[in-house]
Amino acid sequence: MKRIFSGIKPTGHLTLGNYLGALRRWVEVDQHQADALFSVVDLHALTVEHDPARVRRLSRQAATLMLAAGLDPDLCTVFVQSHVDEHARLSYILECTATDGELRRMIQYKEKSVRARAAGQSVRLSLLTYPALMAADILAYQADEVPVGEDQTQHVELTRDLAVRFNQRYGHTFNVPRATPPPVAARVMDLQDPTSKMGKSHESGAGIVYLLDEADVVRKKIMRAVTDSGHDVEYDPESRPGVANLLEILSACSGRNPKELAGAYESYGALKKDTAEAVLEVLRPIRERHAELAADPGHVDAVLRKGAERARGMARPTVDAAYRAIGLLPAA
Ligand code: ATP
Ligand code: MG
Repeated sequence: MKRIFSGIKPTGHLTLGNYLGALRRWVEVDQHQADALFSVVDLHALTVEHDPARVRRLSRQAATLMLAAGLDPDLCTVFVQSHVDEHARLSYILECTATDGELRRMIQYKEKSVRARAAGQSVRLSLLTYPALMAADILAYQADEVPVGEDQTQHVELTRDLAVRFNQRYGHTFNVPRATPPPVAARVMDLQDPTSKMGKSHESGAGIVYLLDEADVVRKKIMRAVTDSGHDVEYDPESRPGVANLLEILSACSGRNPKELAGAYESYGALKKDTAEAVLEVLRPIRERHAELAADPGHVDAVLRKGAERARGMARPTVDAAYRAIGLLPAA
């Protein structure tokens, strides 16, 4: 059976981008088709300035939302990354496989380090080494597929390179995985700045739809989305990114093709109104289920405990094998 791994960082409240780009497919497709593991990757949240209490709160909230969106612990493994030591153990081995040059070329490192410096913050070393930890997350489970939004495909490419390099130098140890971005909404853009990706850690709350936003707030954000000059509703992501973003969101929520949808609208107002309602339709059941699950933290804890146990058992043999292969003396 195919093995799948993917994760979400507790760096902010989950967004519509996280749902359409990743979580929805985990629920609708991946957990049914594969032996799938989904993780709240909390160690990655420490790569930028953070507040400990907030990370803890967001980790629980992310896990609760993953279950609320429909991940079923009887079908897949849901766990918190820091509960499984194997991730950090393998990350070091992959830091010894990667080069400084290839890590510095990562777009996310460039973008986030610029943002940190602009905010007067120092850049943590772990922001640079992040892709080695992400590679460890994936390779520890011998994953075949990594369902992620488009922004993460570069990191998955690096993961492949590291797996191939390690295997060539030290003997076959890791399966070589591939990224599987979704067919639509692989890159949901910020509603206020449609040239940049909607990201949960970004400052501009006005351009980001959070899964737990109240209905009125969702409507307001979508109705105020920046559109492009001109009035015709056309699907042209290059020159009309604002309208194209709305069409892709509506497409992802309605199952209709964005080009075909463009032909059905005469005005931006009508497009925004329908997009807002389609998004609310998708979010409503998630919000309801989240409220139920949030009232029962013991249940969420039990799911995470069982998930971590299972994940540990799966990762340990591979990480032990990597330690042996690279030349470390096994403990007697
Ligand atoms: P951060 O701003 O802290 O990086 P994020 O919103 O980018 O947060 P991640 O935890 O980095 O979220 O990513 C979780 C998953 O959501 C990944 O698979 C990522 O590719 C996907 N994803 C994130 N943002 C978008 C987006 N705007 N459109 C589509 N997919 C997205
Ligand atoms: Mg991200």
